[in-house]
Amino acid sequence: MRYHKIEELLKNNQDWVAQKLALNPNYFNELSSGQKPPFLYIGCSDSRLPLTNFTCTEPGELFVHRNIANQVSLTDINFLAVLEYAISHLQVEHIIVCGHYDCGGIKAALESRTTGIIDNWVNPIRELYLQNQYEIDILPTRGERLNRLAEINVLAQVKNLYQTSIMRQALHNQNAPMVHGWVLDIHTGLIKDLNVATVQWQLYPGCLLEQSPLFSVAHFQPTDEVTGCCCEEAEHVIRNS
Ligand SMILES: [Zn+2]
Repeated sequence: MRYHKIEELLKNNQDWVAQKLALNPNYFNELSSGQKPPFLYIGCSDSRLPLTNFTCTEPGELFVHRNIANQVSLTDINFLAVLEYAISHLQVEHIIVCGHYDCGGIKAALESRTTGIIDNWVNPIRELYLQNQYEIDILPTRGERLNRLAEINVLAQVKNLYQTSIMRQALHNQNAPMVHGWVLDIHTGLIKDLNVATVQWQLYPGCLLEQSPLFSVAHFQPTDEVTGCCCEEAEHVIRNS
């Protein structure tokens, strides 16, 4: 590691400011005028994963929430506040859920080490492993098993995102951002887009469907014969699409 002293970080900050001002004397005036980031990034707290570096983005371009193993928790008031602010106030166009290979949170979930509170936090990943144990266990190496679980974890967190009341309301209002599931390969620095198909979860809001353009996309035409609740109709669409 290059730096261990706080003074070194402060000196770096002063140098960076000088570089920015040399390129654009108004840089910080413009930066302080407000933020309108197009992206919300939900990632792992791992110190190797500042997505700004990996995507060459500047301050003001990524709104960020990070926690161990990039969890989308429906009971995490911190995350929910970030999500609501990103969608309702910043009106981000894209949400990126980004996991990574060689993730310590994934390892903590799978290995029987006791690490304290983290055990509680990563327990949903342990559940994910149990739900997908057959697919994971047949992989030949420990690294491949951990990495596959990292991918499955991203898929699960994208799905969780669509279960939040905030996203469901955004779908109802037809202003939901596009959601992307990524995994960053620490060994290459490259991002892998998992191309997560989200339509199935966008349909899930059930009773809100009648207001959604996706309803017509699914080619479901309600008739007078249909007497059930529209939640039942939504299940019909999902089962037959
Ligand atoms: Zn991680």
